[in-house]
Amino acid sequence: MQLRYSFRLYLSAGQRAALARAFGCARVVYNDALRARETARSEGMPFPKTGDLSKQLITEAKNTPERAWLAEVSAVVLQQSLRDLDAAYKNFFDGLKGKRPRMGAPRYKSKRDTRQTVRFTANARWSITTGGKLRLPKIGDLKVKWSRTLPSVPSTVTVVKDSAGRYFASFVVETGPEEVLPEVTPELGIDLGLGHFAVLSDGTKVDSPRFLRRAEKRLKKAQRDLSRKEKGSSNRNKARLKVARAHARVADARREFHHQLSTKLIRENQAVAVEDLAVKGLARTRLAKSVHDAGWSAFVTMLEYKAARYGRTFVKIGRFEPTSQVCSQCGVKDGPKPLHVRVWTCGECGAVLDRDINAAVNVAKAAGLAVSACGAQVVRREAHVVRVEVQDHHRRPVAAGRLKLRAA
Ligand SMILES: [Zn+2]
Repeated sequence: MQLRYSFRLYLSAGQRAALARAFGCARVVYNDALRARETARSEGMPFPKTGDLSKQLITEAKNTPERAWLAEVSAVVLQQSLRDLDAAYKNFFDGLKGKRPRMGAPRYKSKRDTRQTVRFTANARWSITTGGKLRLPKIGDLKVKWSRTLPSVPSTVTVVKDSAGRYFASFVVETGPEEVLPEVTPELGIDLGLGHFAVLSDGTKVDSPRFLRRAEKRLKKAQRDLSRKEKGSSNRNKARLKVARAHARVADARREFHHQLSTKLIRENQAVAVEDLAVKGLARTRLAKSVHDAGWSAFVTMLEYKAARYGRTFVKIGRFEPTSQVCSQCGVKDGPKPLHVRVWTCGECGAVLDRDINAAVNVAKAAGLAVSACGAQVVRREAHVVRVEVQDHHRRPVAAGRLKLRAA
């Protein structure tokens, strides 16, 4: 399986300038090649070959005054740019032939594109230094915030500058079967709720970590400030950039939280079951916004691929008896309950049921998992509410799996 790992980069002014040159050169070569091919096409000439373009647009161009600056950038980066164009053409032609979904013809890249990228392949002799820096030819040793460990050595790194002006190193790594974890006993049902981010069939209630709540608060404030600024003023532009940065921070913090929680749950349980979110039907209601904000689908996707990677079972259950209508202890269905009813007593067996935990146990049971529906799991007073404590995303990286659950 191929997985993509992204890490934030922190660059010096000199490194930023060198990288800007690499973005620029890669873009120019891409555009020159695109122009050469489009010209050939409009003149009815044969499609120029990549090898010829490489010779003409890179090797020979470096000796001309107009393109001499191409020599300042690793040649491998420029060749990669040609290969990227090849891939764009191939996808376009395959789309026309019906081999894949149709997509537009390759387009010229612009300096003003919000996302700038440059790719270094193994040939470019990039490396990770013993000090943990990313060494790129003709750019330097870049500081990386390693928030996770790479499972294997990647061959390619893509350096990205996003719309908020941040830099990332993105690695694609191949993961093998050696990652399958030793078997464990627990199996788990998860109810993704609104009161808590997730409630587990073992009685654990998981809330968003403090660093995420704080980032969300800052975003709200930035948005309020922006709405108060006069249109067209320079203050408004500053405020807009602030909002963009706050947005990026919330997205980062949320992704980090999802990674940590999903890794922890997959490590500690042999099987994990969730309800299909489409079936859950919340996305169509007024709760849609909070569903969106909670980012459940991103979280569920992580559970799914991590289960595959670590040799665990992942079950997504479809429509079944509504989770809140069935007693997870005796199975009696006693009808719908309004949303404000959080705890009730089963009229049949007398169990005191916590709405969320009851739902999580029902999810596990519907998936055929062996969760024991013992009293402690559904009875509220014995359930322990926990708060997820992770280190601040912006201070120190946390290795995945080091997420601590602490009883509050
Ligand atoms: Zn019952």
